[in-house]
Amino acid sequence: MERYRVEPGGRFSLATVDPRDRSAFPDLKKSTSITELRSMRRHLAELQRLLWADAHHAVLVVLQAMDTGGKDGTIRKVFSGVNPQGIDVRGFGVPSDLERDHDYLWRVHLQAPRRGRIGIFNRSHYEDVLVVRVNDLVPRERWQKRYRHIRDFEQMLTDEGTTIVKIMLHISLDEQKERLQARLDDPSKNYKFNPSDLDSRAKWDDYMAAYEDAINETSTDQAPWYVVPADRKWHRNLVVSQILIDTLESLDLSYPEPEHDLSSIEIV
Ligand code: AMP
Ligand code: MG
Repeated sequence: MERYRVEPGGRFSLATVDPRDRSAFPDLKKSTSITELRSMRRHLAELQRLLWADAHHAVLVVLQAMDTGGKDGTIRKVFSGVNPQGIDVRGFGVPSDLERDHDYLWRVHLQAPRRGRIGIFNRSHYEDVLVVRVNDLVPRERWQKRYRHIRDFEQMLTDEGTTIVKIMLHISLDEQKERLQARLDDPSKNYKFNPSDLDSRAKWDDYMAAYEDAINETSTDQAPWYVVPADRKWHRNLVVSQILIDTLESLDLSYPEPEHDLSSIEIV
């Protein structure tokens, strides 16, 4: 999945990732991808069991995307085979009064996953350099310092045992139009339509610039960004699954040695 990883150094351009790309699985298509997804789910479930049993590492998956980008669908499809007891999904919306009375990382740190668990952030501290920047919710002097805070914060989490992987689901403006339209047309999707999504759609270019800067400023070897093409949901699901499998496999996980001498135990 290296093709989607953003190397540190700050020279990444979003324009180099085609949202319709399906080159990681060129032999598959929507109808044939499900078998592959199923086998990845099994693999992920095994790895999660091992992560839990090993109990030394936490894994944090940061998911970011424009509205309709597929964050919820990705979580549903990728993690549906994994034991729910080992997963913590956390969404970050508009900060509450209490949250706003603290620094912007306070609420985020509180939700960081425990050892043995996979934490999934559906939106994250990156909103504080995305929506906040695009809408001038705090002055530039403040949000500009946040890239450094975020690098240091993520470095601290990494040093203390959390493996971080950050994923931007990259959809096209056209695809967003279709997905928003579907939310208007399909009664079962009406509830998902939020008129404020149109405001962010109107600021698409500003958002893309903010994403590009955030990714360039904070993609590190320890906490890399992956920009995943996301117009094709089946391909997106496979890519995200594979990234997570690779990440978990890179950890040195093992089942713990039994604490007792089991050979002498007889169950009567
Ligand atoms: P949703 O993910 O559809 O539930 O929407 C959550 C909303 O909260 C999005 O419009 C985000 O941009 C917004 N949001 C998340 N974090 C922040 C933040 N730190 N400041 C302002 N808005 C935020
Ligand atoms: Mg929304």
